[in-house]
Amino acid sequence: MPQGQQIEWALVRSLNWLFPNKTNMFNHPTTLSLIAAAHPLCPLPPDKLAAAIALSHWRAALYFGGTAWLLLALWILIRLGAGAAIARLAARVSPRPWLQGLIVVPLWIIILSALEIPTSIVGHSVSLHYGLSVERWLPWWIDWLKSTALTLALGTFVGGILYALMRRSPYRWWIWFWAFTIPAEVLLTFVAPLVIDPLFNHFTPLAATNPALVDQLERVAARGGLSIPPSRIFLMDASARYTGANAYVTGLGASKRIVVWDTTLRIESPSEILFTYGHEQGHYVLHHVAKGLAWSALIIFVFYWIAYRLMRSLVRRSGARWRIDAVQSWSSVGLFLFVALLLNFLAQPIANAISRNVEHQADVYGQEVIHGLVPDPQATTVHSFCSDAIVWLDDPAPNRFVELWTYNHPSTEERAEFAAHYNPWLPGHHPKYVAK
Ligand SMILES: [Zn+2]
Repeated sequence: MPQGQQIEWALVRSLNWLFPNKTNMFNHPTTLSLIAAAHPLCPLPPDKLAAAIALSHWRAALYFGGTAWLLLALWILIRLGAGAAIARLAARVSPRPWLQGLIVVPLWIIILSALEIPTSIVGHSVSLHYGLSVERWLPWWIDWLKSTALTLALGTFVGGILYALMRRSPYRWWIWFWAFTIPAEVLLTFVAPLVIDPLFNHFTPLAATNPALVDQLERVAARGGLSIPPSRIFLMDASARYTGANAYVTGLGASKRIVVWDTTLRIESPSEILFTYGHEQGHYVLHHVAKGLAWSALIIFVFYWIAYRLMRSLVRRSGARWRIDAVQSWSSVGLFLFVALLLNFLAQPIANAISRNVEHQADVYGQEVIHGLVPDPQATTVHSFCSDAIVWLDDPAPNRFVELWTYNHPSTEERAEFAAHYNPWLPGHHPKYVAK
């Protein structure tokens, strides 16, 4: 489940959907932090700055270290011939490949989940220590069990399909699997807010508890020339887990909606909430969920082809040594997980670059759409970023490499810097999305 700063976009989510425990918003400090701290748009008090820098160390170590640990552990298991041992166990139960899959795939998912436990525990301890999370350990473990059960169910189904396609079409399986992934992803995006999200959080129509706020938000919607029905704006009980503010757009078609965390209402001023909402309306109006799915279809196509080539050459070269007889054999599942994890890691900079780009578009839209509704859109936008940065303990000047690899939003300083200088209402300038 989400930790860190604002997490919202479907692309990163869809690329990570087999690994729902993973987060990817980790940052890292440099001496630049100290330079930025001297002239910041969002000045952090000294104690908060020290905490933000320490926290960014932890996040980088957990993300890169956690990924390295998983890859190393899987690699050792592959070299020890664990794939063949698990496949033999399944073969003893049944001669039918699909029944064997019901044993092999869940076993590997359990191994992977168990390997992730240490990193997850340290991650939650760090979140508790720095006050980002308030979730006690028992509910945290219940969340972990729920998300692991979900991964088991989805992963076993998807793994069964994948290996059936491999057996049917040893040279074209990656295209067929891609053709399966696209509608599966669309379906998952559609049902996520209806079926999956309610497993973890409670959602109520915002109008039920905050009708005056919904009236204000309706004005933002009208300013953008659309009417988002109040039934599509939800309040989420994030305060059970987190202290930071957040909002996001999720779903597709009939399930598409805007969700506001209840923490946002406590942290942000009424004007800032209008901007936060305006930003989300930008994602809604500019069809970022659908565009994210289209981008991910393109990226996944390339990465599935790489996975196909990599699996084929690894099995050909070292299959005998690792006791993996063929790519389509159940003995290759561990190797496939290794390849998938590695490629997922390598795809992050691409997915995050696309995400940062659409987040910037939503920032521009949000700042434009609140013009005329708040006294000073520039100041409101800057304040909104800054108040979020303080509760999330954002590193003021993240390391460029870590930003490139793990930031799905531009850094707070970058967003605030842009907002402070963006005023398309000046004579001779033109707003990008909202008519003057
Ligand atoms: Zn956004």
